[in-house]
Amino acid sequence: MDILRTELIELSASHGTDVALQPDDVFRKNKRLVVFDMDSTLICQEVIDEIAKYAGVVDQVAAITEAAMNGEIDFKESLRRRVTLLNGTSVSVLETVKQNLTFTEGARFLCRALKRLGFKLAVISGGFMPLALYVKAELGLDYAFANQLMVSSDGLTLTGETTGPIVDGIRKAELLDVIAQAEGITLNQVVAVGDGANDLPMLNTAGLGIAFNAKPRVQEQARARINQKSLKYVLTLLGYSEKDMEQLSREN
Ligand SMILES: [Mg+2]
Repeated sequence: MDILRTELIELSASHGTDVALQPDDVFRKNKRLVVFDMDSTLICQEVIDEIAKYAGVVDQVAAITEAAMNGEIDFKESLRRRVTLLNGTSVSVLETVKQNLTFTEGARFLCRALKRLGFKLAVISGGFMPLALYVKAELGLDYAFANQLMVSSDGLTLTGETTGPIVDGIRKAELLDVIAQAEGITLNQVVAVGDGANDLPMLNTAGLGIAFNAKPRVQEQARARINQKSLKYVLTLLGYSEKDMEQLSREN
């Protein structure tokens, strides 16, 4: 399987198409939970880079984000370094960033379709909580987990620290497991979708891990890939045809 999969990846890369190799067992068709990364997966932006734009430290922060998403530096350390740079930034920036978020092509359709099909949906983000809650509300998701930025005692500025456990790669995989337990389903019934190196533990914990327009290292290590623009192709990997998608969009 591994050798065949490697050959298929090479073939799909040289032909600019996507090929997914999945065992045709009972679990292919009874997925019940889909867990999404947020930044560069459900939304087009990396929220910390957007906050940094308004804080006037975008170049420093974006360089660290890029290295972290490629897996070149430890995520926890990279998050600490980036959040420190946000010290003194007005809390109102979070509202500005929220208003400027754009959803990935197909994200709204996919989430509506999956809800209609009875799936539970979650966002597990290495980004930040007010924004993850907004995405949860907009897309009708069931769960949202993300980092929490600490705010000054007067409630006006960011302190450059986070509070609570940091959502890094390991934590993402743990949270996926917690949601599956709460829903009473097995890991075989879970789908995870993400693009960054910090998504690999959760992609490899889920029964089906999908690298979505992911960094090269993530594509190599995930079991399935989507390199088309639209998130709707998650439905293809779950066994739904274009015709099924048309029906789902009509009846949504
Ligand atoms: Mg991401």
